[in-house]
Amino acid sequence: MEIRRRDALKLGAAGAAALPAARVFAQPSGARALIVSTWDFGAAANAAAYAQWKKSGSLIDAVEAGAWVPEADPTNHSVGYGGYPDRDGHVTLDAIIMDDRGNVGAVAALEDVLHPISVARRVMEKTPHTFLVGEGARQFALEQGFPRTKLLTPEAEAAWRDWLKTAKYRPIANIENQRGSALDHDTIGIVACDAGGRLAGACTTSGMAFKLRGRVGDSPQAGCGLMVEPDVGAATATGVGEEVTRIAGSARIVSSMRAGMSPMAACREAVLHIAKLRGDAVKDAQVAFLAINREGLVGAYALQPGFTYAVTDMGGATSVLAAESLRPSTKN
Ligand code: ASP
Repeated sequence: MEIRRRDALKLGAAGAAALPAARVFAQPSGARALIVSTWDFGAAANAAAYAQWKKSGSLIDAVEAGAWVPEADPTNHSVGYGGYPDRDGHVTLDAIIMDDRGNVGAVAALEDVLHPISVARRVMEKTPHTFLVGEGARQFALEQGFPRTKLLTPEAEAAWRDWLKTAKYRPIANIENQRGSALDHDTIGIVACDAGGRLAGACTTSGMAFKLRGRVGDSPQAGCGLMVEPDVGAATATGVGEEVTRIAGSARIVSSMRAGMSPMAACREAVLHIAKLRGDAVKDAQVAFLAINREGLVGAYALQPGFTYAVTDMGGATSVLAAESLRPSTKN
């Protein structure tokens, strides 16, 4: 898909839910963002988050409600229900939620539960811990009353069986969002800031398609897939999680913003750092960052072209934008 900013169009919050996946829209000039999410499907998540924020006035409620949308969507093969399984056929989910009071909850390698983001929130609110994994996380979720849900859909199982025919030992890292292909990797990260400068964030994923059993990426790790810091801002990541984890990407971006960088400059700095550190090892990998500061200014930057993100302003208007990237597009 070629992204053309001149195809710009502004939508209301309600219209955002119905956005066709391939369209990209321009940011309303000068608008301060309330909620921003990774990828074009973030528009529907933002609409749900915005509606929840209007209802309860809570940013943490809002980012949780936003995360529910792709988690429940069987056509999204990289988050929640319908996510592609690991190499052995198990759908395992990772999620984290964080506010700006130092509260954080996360789960990783969680099976059989539809909304890992809500289990992460329970970890944050009901335990003295910040992170539960695997069978312990599953047991905790069931004890908390989350219903058991079969997450492997027939479509995802078929894709996995197809992959098994030529299975390579390591998960493949694609360079762009290729929805519907076996190479899909599109975590949703959501970061939000209200008019008073309060902040919250959530990140949820089924991880890399056909990953090794037990593999956990950046997404549920505080400071890697998500970071929120009071009076500074918040950042989230998508792409090959190992590359984000190596540099604690979201923490790095928040730290750069603390030192005075704009969200855009901070995201760019993190991508440049990965490119320099990893050289040819990230030639074909996608890594993308998205950040918001306490004034509601947004920035994004990716290693490869193709990364999009959804921005919802304080009035509920949503736009989908194409991020700038270090590597130029090879398409015309
Ligand atoms: N960052 C995620 C992971 O490595 C994948 C993604 O962004 O889709 O698990």
